[in-house]
Amino acid sequence: MTTVFLKPKKEESLKRFHPWVFSGAIARVLLDASHKGDAPVEGELVSVRSAANEVLGIGHWQIGSIAVRILAFGVEQLPSDFWCERIHAAYKVREAIGLIRPDNNTFRLIHGEGDFLPGLIVDVYADTAVVQAHSIGMHESRNEIANALMSEIPQVQNVYYKSDDTLPFKASIEGDKVGYLIKNQESKIKNQKSKIPNSDEFWSVENGLEFRIDWLRGQKTGFFVDQRENRVLVERYASGKDVLNMFCYTGGFSLYALRGGAKTVDSVDVSQKAIDLVNINVARNFPNDPRHHAYAADAFDFLSEKIKNQKSKITNYDLIILDPPAFAKHRDAVKNALRGYQRINAKAIEKIRPGGILFTFSCSQAVDKEAFRLAVFSAAAQVGRKVRILHQLHQPQDHPINIYHPEGEYLKGLVLYVE
Ligand code: SAH
Repeated sequence: MTTVFLKPKKEESLKRFHPWVFSGAIARVLLDASHKGDAPVEGELVSVRSAANEVLGIGHWQIGSIAVRILAFGVEQLPSDFWCERIHAAYKVREAIGLIRPDNNTFRLIHGEGDFLPGLIVDVYADTAVVQAHSIGMHESRNEIANALMSEIPQVQNVYYKSDDTLPFKASIEGDKVGYLIKNQESKIKNQKSKIPNSDEFWSVENGLEFRIDWLRGQKTGFFVDQRENRVLVERYASGKDVLNMFCYTGGFSLYALRGGAKTVDSVDVSQKAIDLVNINVARNFPNDPRHHAYAADAFDFLSEKIKNQKSKITNYDLIILDPPAFAKHRDAVKNALRGYQRINAKAIEKIRPGGILFTFSCSQAVDKEAFRLAVFSAAAQVGRKVRILHQLHQPQDHPINIYHPEGEYLKGLVLYVE
């Protein structure tokens, strides 16, 4: 096996179970005999040792600033049941925290480093697991992962692979980046009829609300599982309110607001495909409900009432949810992102009626919670309203943060009371 030797003193973070080896920490690489070139192959398993030749762990090699993602510490071989063991352990956590119930079959099963599987995301929607690889090593392990999902997760009958926009560039990637790895396996649970994925029959349930999830064409794995707990809080505050769900995607917050007794709910997203799904989801859960309207529109235009013939009669709201896409995908984009957060939050604060509530989020990992809070503070100061922080929100339990990997924290939100 190829062995990566670190520079002196660079082993400390690995000894504290941080799973990344940065390229700058590497002194030299000793290739095993199978190599033709002069560097490890992207995706291959390499052993990592300290300058003093201690075994530190084994992980996936990748070109880039993170050169190795450690899968197991203190060993040079992955145990034969590695994938099953890790996937089983992650499932146990979801079971223990009460996420797997008849009225909830939508959850994140594997959250990368948070579940000690760097580079891998798995979301479960009823009988289908959607797998996303963020490293070449995980891409190459996709069939083993799919088999482990089948054997460890009782409800899984389909495994769909969706890594078209998550894999790092590699000149030659073997195999498809999207498609079913396993489809319509005979039901493992007696008397449970196997469902055809993505047909009109398919519904995934989150806290008793049904969602059509389009993992073939949708964003990410098809659904934003990470807002489940925050949607519950919206439901709690929605009663009797005019609600605006800005950046609604498939309408998660809208459905909870409707169930919470909102007077009206306006859902807005720039994507028409998302709006189509919102309407399907609302119709399924609240048939013929006159309280809901959805608009395909740009957020700034909608909030500035720039849209001609804007159908919404409402110009101010009692409760607004702002859940924009990541404004900063990289560290160097943080400054612009903060300006963006300030601008959109100022617009929203202006549109809140006295005594109203704003739920505002950032899912940019590169923007930490202090910086985000500062951007929202600047927005409030710009508008000049009295604002209290009611809640500080974060990612849910099925998006765990590995205690040795604080970089896993990404979602943050504030709930503001606007006088
Ligand atoms: N709140 C959603 C997830 C939001 S993801 C949920 O709970 O499921 C961010 C959404 O913002 C995406 O659906 C994207 O289409 C939308 N979006 C991106 N840019 C936008 C813009 N300028 N105006 C309105 N929506 C936008």
